[in-house]
Amino acid sequence: MGSIPRLKRGEKLLIATHNRGKLSEFRELFTPLGLVLISAGDLGLPEPEETGTTFVDNARIKAHAAASASGMVALADDSGLAVDAIGGQPGVYTANWAESPVGRDYAIGMRRVEDALQAAGATTPGARKGSFNATLCLAHPDGRDDLYIGKVTGTLVWPPRGDKGFGFDPVFMPDGFDITFGEMPSSSKHSWSPGQVGLSHRARAFAQFVEGAIEQS
Ligand code: IMP
Repeated sequence: MGSIPRLKRGEKLLIATHNRGKLSEFRELFTPLGLVLISAGDLGLPEPEETGTTFVDNARIKAHAAASASGMVALADDSGLAVDAIGGQPGVYTANWAESPVGRDYAIGMRRVEDALQAAGATTPGARKGSFNATLCLAHPDGRDDLYIGKVTGTLVWPPRGDKGFGFDPVFMPDGFDITFGEMPSSSKHSWSPGQVGLSHRARAFAQFVEGAIEQS
């Protein structure tokens, strides 16, 4: 870790995502750091195909594609929901489970997870455990990279609750809470501030990223 020179206030960083939900979470997380964020969408970069079989593989694919296309240091996130009773699915294929003939539809994705849980006989809260996982890859155009990993465990609920956040947030109740990510204000979902550990998988990976990749003033 830490092979890429630390990033300083005022420097530009490319956020290698086309996912609006992730981008808005990153914008909030980055606010105290004073970096200038540019998104892959702002630069019109194409989305690479996620051909990896792990979060690490796919985070690397996205970060290196963006870094080499832009000549900038790029940060990518590969993330997903892993549900214990169904062998860790949907895992790296979480986004695919929400695909429908007319585009991405998270109501369909959440329903697919629920159907799989029902088929597995997972009806009690104790049988419906899972985690959200995030791997961040910071890539340099010269090919170096650093990885930061975060995870939050919780229980899958049904029906979905809340309209905040994005993706599968309304069916995920993090351990220690009686509301879902979909019912939490984004500030609680991230609950990250300098020197603290966050709540969400992305905030936890981000806290490590700050420690390893940002110039401490
Ligand atoms: P990918 O990292 O682009 O492959 O997509 C990961 C998918 O996991 C997203 O499209 C969401 O469906 C889901 N996901 C990742 N992080 C979160 C989160 O914080 N809340 C809800 N869903 C998430």
